[in-house]
Parts: sequence; structure tokens; C-alpha cells
Amino acid sequence: MCGIVGYIGNKKAMPILVNGLLRLEYRGYDSAGIATIEDDKIVVMKNKGRVNNLSNLSGIDKLVGTIGIAHTRWATHGKPSKENSHPHLDNSKSFAVVHNGIIENYHELKNFLIEKGYEFLSTTDTEVIPNLLHYYFNQDSKNDEKKLLRAVKNTCKDLKGSYAIEILSTYNKDKMIVVRKDSPLVIGKGLEENYISSDIPAILSYTKDFYLIDDNEIAELSRDKIKFYDSELNEIIKPVKSIEWGALSAEKDGYEDFMLKEIHEQPRAIRETVGAKLDNGKIEIEGLEFSKEYLENLNKIYIVACGTAMHAGLVAKATFEKFCKIPVEVDIASEFRYRDPLIDERTLCIYISQSGETADTIAALKLAKSKGAKTLAISNVIGSSITREADYSIYTHAGPEIAVASTKAYTSQVALLVILGMYFAEKLEKVDKSEINNLKSDILKIPTQIEEILKNTKQIQEFARKVYKEKDMFFLGRGTDYAVSLEGSLKLKEISYIHSESYASGELKHGPIALIENGVTVVAIMTNPSLVEKSISNIQEVVTRGAKVLAITSEDIKNDGLNEVIKLPKTNPLISPILSVIPMQLFAYYISKEKGLDVDKPRNLAKSVTVE
Ligand code: GLU
Repeated sequence: MCGIVGYIGNKKAMPILVNGLLRLEYRGYDSAGIATIEDDKIVVMKNKGRVNNLSNLSGIDKLVGTIGIAHTRWATHGKPSKENSHPHLDNSKSFAVVHNGIIENYHELKNFLIEKGYEFLSTTDTEVIPNLLHYYFNQDSKNDEKKLLRAVKNTCKDLKGSYAIEILSTYNKDKMIVVRKDSPLVIGKGLEENYISSDIPAILSYTKDFYLIDDNEIAELSRDKIKFYDSELNEIIKPVKSIEWGALSAEKDGYEDFMLKEIHEQPRAIRETVGAKLDNGKIEIEGLEFSKEYLENLNKIYIVACGTAMHAGLVAKATFEKFCKIPVEVDIASEFRYRDPLIDERTLCIYISQSGETADTIAALKLAKSKGAKTLAISNVIGSSITREADYSIYTHAGPEIAVASTKAYTSQVALLVILGMYFAEKLEKVDKSEINNLKSDILKIPTQIEEILKNTKQIQEFARKVYKEKDMFFLGRGTDYAVSLEGSLKLKEISYIHSESYASGELKHGPIALIENGVTVVAIMTNPSLVEKSISNIQEVVTRGAKVLAITSEDIKNDGLNEVIKLPKTNPLISPILSVIPMQLFAYYISKEKGLDVDKPRNLAKSVTVE
């Protein structure tokens, strides 16, 4: 999880590091710290809490070092505290390390080091790394320019788990070493200066040229040079990638919060995601080579993801099944990876991860590959780990998503998956072309329809004001309305801390209706004309038991005891979740604001979940 930043150049490192951390704060924010080299010594400053608690430390502005590493933590081992925050030093204070990830065998390594006389000041897993570096450095009798690199190589050989690590050492004051395995890390190349970051947007204002490092690769950064090595220290050559996003797209652009900005960016995100694939009525997806025979032979499609991305998969299942007539199973990545799923070379496995760094999803992908299935990754980040692992990758074009609660990534994922479903359907020729063409023209209208919904947010804001003090809420729907109700409920939990549950409307009377009592809020989604009558009956069951109902519908329903009816433009039920989720995103947002919470950085959550 966590964010890491690094700088080596001719400017003062501290302001660059702190600025980068502020941009990465969405990834972790229980403590923050930096290390630079001042007068040949490593100086560490760190503090519990947000990055501001670090930048307000007295003396921090006196740091003049032009090389430095920095970290904003999302604790996995050891409580959030100053002692446990990064950077961590070895006992001799010659190595400083920041680490994103988990060292699974740290107990074993710690015991080994304790036996050798090392002492530990924190309860983190990370602290074994600087001490192992010191151990291997001192074991090595050869004093050449690769000595530090060899210490890194030997240390990494001992580490089990996931890591992106930055290393500073007094033994080589003009070099910084980084290495990664299953945790994200990019290198930004400047003129006589180089940057490191967990993601591209954090350093986009400094450079547009990046190197992506693969698992187990090591990079050695000097001011004017970057050298790359494989895990055996053979030098490798890497291409530089130029990124086109403007740094501004990672700023708030006048919105109060990133989440609100990202909700409003959805028309553009979908236009760009769809526009890249659906042009003039024709679907073309670059990089995909699925023949009709391959698709006809499939026994199953798995869509595997976590959290919101998994909810996007649940919506898309309907399109694949309806148009391709292939059974689709949507699975939670953390379950899929450990339950020996039935996959073979006739199974296609689709993986969705906004960041492309979600540890469970990547592991689930590797599992399918090992069983001979073809894998397709859907991500918002070009060059992310998942896209490098998968056989095929396609991208949402949502731009950087900073708020922890996903909005534009979700709607773009649904749009892209539906396009993919249509693309397969056109090859399979199992349904009438006109059905597909109708859906194509409906999907092209979606961005304008979202703009319409966003013009009037007052009604939702007012309803949120009425109910924000509640403790429990329910979300109900049928078909794709049920799939999207799961996402509405998750949004509410994530940013407003209100407990909520979502149910398929028909399930209500099989248990949950026992929880409905006077005053309980129920959000009812009813966009599918063929199911709306049934849903209304279910809603009446809660209205008669005293529930307050917020109905989200595109149908002309009678307001029979409903407290609020949000009217949506009409569209195909296969894609209606892209519209109906918007009022639910806003509902969660306004409740969070009413409660005075930090919308963009909800407690205990981080954006890119790079740990299991
Ligand atoms: N496992 C390390 C810790 O708990 C790193 C966590 C992170 O990625 O922020 O300190």
C-alpha cells in the first residue's frame, strides 16, 4: 500500500519529497518520513499521522541534501507510531530504507539478525531490510563499485513477500538504489536529476519520461545516469516511456475534493474509454486477437477482481451471458486465488484492477496462467504490473483517480467490459446484430446522460442532509440494478462509515426484512422496465414497515409513500448501472461531507491495495 518517493539531483530534496508524499497520501497516511544525506550522514525525520505532521516538524526546512527517500505509511506490521514509521536505519546508521509491501518471513530474518547481535527499534517487518543490507555489505570482502549492489542482491534473495524498496547508504552518497517485487515503483528521468515514485501522477510535474521496473529488477540511480540490473546483477537496457497526462489532471481543479471532481469527470472518462474502442459504429480493440473458434470453444469466462472492480464485473456478466451465451462467473480475487478454481485452456479469465497493482488480483491472474487459461487484464494504468503479467491488456481511459473511493474508474470499467462483451458477441454471431447496434448507440449517449444527472444534485444533497445521522441503510435492486446496489452500498460504507447492506429485492422476505423498522433508509434502484413492477412490490413491503425510501428510477413510477424519487434518463438495463450509480456516489459523498469526514482519504483505507 503506502507511497514512496525519491529524488537525486542538484536541488534540495526535502521539498520535492514532501510534495510527492502529499500527492501519494491517498495510498497511506498513518505516518510519514524522509531521509536525506547531510554532511556525509543520513538524517531521518519522521512523524505519526499525515504528511503535514512531517512537514511541520521543526528543523525540516534546514535539510539541504540533494538526495533523499520518503514514505507515507499504511501500517501492516506494527501500529502506526513514530518508531514504526519509515525510513528505517540499520544499527550502524549507514543504510536507510523505505519499503512498500510486506516481508512475510521477517520473523525468521529478525531472529537470524538478533543472533548476529543486531537490535531492533521498531515492530515493523521492514526493519530487517537495512540490517540485512549492513550484514551482507560487511560480509563482502571485495571492495569494488558493485559492493552495495551485491548487498542489495543478497538481501533480496532472503526476502519473501512483496516490496518496493528505496535505499540510501553512506557508503555511496551519490547513488540511490531501488528494487521491486509485486509492489509498484516507477522512475522518472530528468535532466541531471532523477525521481522515484509509487505512481506516475505524483511526479508528473517534474518529468514526463519514465522507466517501469519489472519484478526483481534493481535500479541504481545517480544524478546523470540510471543503470538497471536483473536479480543476478547482469546489466539490462530499458526503454524510456513518455506519458501524456498533464500534471493538472492530478489536481483538484477547483473542486472541494478529488472525489467530487472525479464524479464530475465521468462523462469525459467514459467518452475517452468508449471512444478509443467504438468508432463509427465499429468496435476495434487494439491488441486483442481472439478468433471466433477460440471464443466458440470457451467453457467459461471468469471475471476476477476486488471491491469496486468486482462490482463492475457483476454488472458486465449480464452482457456477456446475454450476447455471447457463455457462462460467466464473477469472483473475488482473494477467494479465487486460494480455492483451486476449475480452469483450463478453454477458460478465459478477465482481471480488473484500476491501479493494476492489486496484489490479490495479480496473484489470481498468475494462478489462471499456470493452469493454461488465457488472461486479459483491464486497468487504468499503462505499464502497471497486472498488464505486464497478462496475455492481453486493455485500458480504461479514466485518467488518474486519486480519491480512495472509486467512481470514474468503476463506470469506465463497466463501459469497457460491455464493449468487450459486444466485441466478442460480434465475432460469435449468436445474437441479432440489431440488438448489439442498439446497445452501441445507447452506450454512446451515456456521457451526455451523466452530464444531465450531474446538473441537478440538489435533491440528493437534501436527502443526504436528512439521513446522515443514521446507523444502517439498505440498498435494493433486481438484475443489474442489484449489481449496482452493491456498489452504492460499498460507497456509503467507505466514505460515510454508515453500515449498509445490499440485497436482491426478491431476497428481502427471506430474512433481511426483519431488520426493516420505522425510519430505516432504503435506497431502491429500479431501472429495468421488465422488473420494475416486481421491484415496486418489494418496495411497498418496506414502505408499509415504515422505511424511508429513496428511489432511483428511469421509469414513470407512482410515488406511493416514497420519500424521494430521483429520475434518470432511460437506457438499456445492461448499462443502466453507469447512470444509476451516479446518484449513489453523490449520496455517499454528501453524507460524508455532512458528517465532516475526509472524503478522499477515508479511515483505514488506501487506494492501491498492494498487500494481500
Ligand atoms: N509492512 C511495512 C510496515 O508496516 C510497510 C507498509 C507499507 O507498505 O506502508 O511498515
